[in-house]
Amino acid sequence: MHLKAVADRPVTTRSAVLQGPLRVEMEERKLGEPGPLDVLVKMMAVGVCGSDVHYYEHGRIGNKQVEYPFIQGHECSGVVVGAGNQVTRVNIGDRVAIEPGAACLRCEYCKSGQYNLCPSVQFLSSPPTNGAFTQYLIHPEHLLFPIPDRLSFEAATLAEPLSVGIHACQRAGLATGATVLVTGLGPVGLTAVIAAKALGAKQIIVSDVEPFRLKLAERLGASAVVHAAEQSVGEQVLKATQGKGADIAIDTSGHPDVLNTAIEVVKRGGKLVSVGFPGTETVPLNLTQMLLKEIDLCTVYRYANTYPLAIQILASGEFDIAPLITDRYFLEETGTAMERARTNKSGSLKVIVYPHGHREGTDQ
Ligand SMILES: [Zn+2]
Ligand SMILES: [Zn+2]
Repeated sequence: MHLKAVADRPVTTRSAVLQGPLRVEMEERKLGEPGPLDVLVKMMAVGVCGSDVHYYEHGRIGNKQVEYPFIQGHECSGVVVGAGNQVTRVNIGDRVAIEPGAACLRCEYCKSGQYNLCPSVQFLSSPPTNGAFTQYLIHPEHLLFPIPDRLSFEAATLAEPLSVGIHACQRAGLATGATVLVTGLGPVGLTAVIAAKALGAKQIIVSDVEPFRLKLAERLGASAVVHAAEQSVGEQVLKATQGKGADIAIDTSGHPDVLNTAIEVVKRGGKLVSVGFPGTETVPLNLTQMLLKEIDLCTVYRYANTYPLAIQILASGEFDIAPLITDRYFLEETGTAMERARTNKSGSLKVIVYPHGHREGTDQ
């Protein structure tokens, strides 16, 4: 079945555009022509990611530099409103979660399934590729995943951070019954708790300094919470595991002290999964301990082939995901949304921008 682009499809799209550090302005831009395998998506919800906030404030992450003007946002969902003439996977009207990274699908990494490592990937909102804070987006059909009606657009944006959590668990070879330590409970840490639980972890120990994040982790299935400002993470993990240590530690903080604590409390032969970017390029790690215990270090960069599972987990109803979304803004308020995410680290988790108004469609 071949779909035709809708006759009255929009020719322009309003976007929230970063014009310089901390400066977002609205702009109407011409919409390109979808290619034969491209889909035109009416954007319904876009989450603000920690990486978006970092680029918004500093204009760069490592050697990746923003060139202004630049559109941010990559955790997104919407409705299919048009499609190229060779599109077969989605239909007009489908509600979809949008995977942001378009890899080349030809290089050795893509061919081996590690398309997250594709050197020529174009990832929404990762410079120089523009992102999703826009009313309409043209995106390849193979990166669109239909979502069930019971999953709201805003909840579907969580498929992106949850994908990182799933990839972290898969990199560690998480087996049913595992004991997992998750350090740092931002959205990726909290979705790592969801992923670990969904993939069969028996015991999940979490640590953070924010009590409300610890409470959320508990609601999502954490079996032990450690308030890192008041308790020793090391002691608490050993206590919870009868001195043996965790099978897997997933760190989303990137903090050297936290990583070294994780090395201390991962069991012999266990895995340390590093997800969070550190503040400096070089980080001192206790390699001697790692050698003595033969700990594997797995790093995580984005994800590959995780969206179907992420959507299945989010739509299962088994996890209380609603509290992860704390703030909601119109597209015109994207600058305020970014400021909220930047400055309210102790109160906000996921800040969502609605390119077509709040709570449209099946959102509650
Ligand atoms: Zn993200
Ligand atoms: Zn490739």
